[in-house]
Amino acid sequence: MHETAVAESILNTIIAQAETADAKPVSAVISCGQFNALNDECMQFAFEAAAAGTVCESMLLNIKHVPLRAKCKKCDATFEFDVYKPACSQCDSMEFDFKRDAPLLLETIEFEE
Ligand SMILES: [Zn+2]
Repeated sequence: MHETAVAESILNTIIAQAETADAKPVSAVISCGQFNALNDECMQFAFEAAAAGTVCESMLLNIKHVPLRAKCKKCDATFEFDVYKPACSQCDSMEFDFKRDAPLLLETIEFEE
């Protein structure tokens, strides 16, 4: 469970931005890939706990899951890897290479007007 550490690091970034913007953050979007996927519920819970008593208290956190892409070795097609159907979307080959997974990213922060 790395959600607690992730929540704290994201929280610190948002607090720093809020100080610079001199505004109260209302929501933020973070994105993550498949190998470093966050559990939404754990993440919300960890973030809420970490944000309590800070300027980020009660702000909304949206977690976007970026699909993992793979490239087929047989037909060269690039497709979105589906764990429930781990085969090329074009030719059904099971031989493919994973593309680089999306990093964990703090995408946007929205502040109160
Ligand atoms: Zn293929």
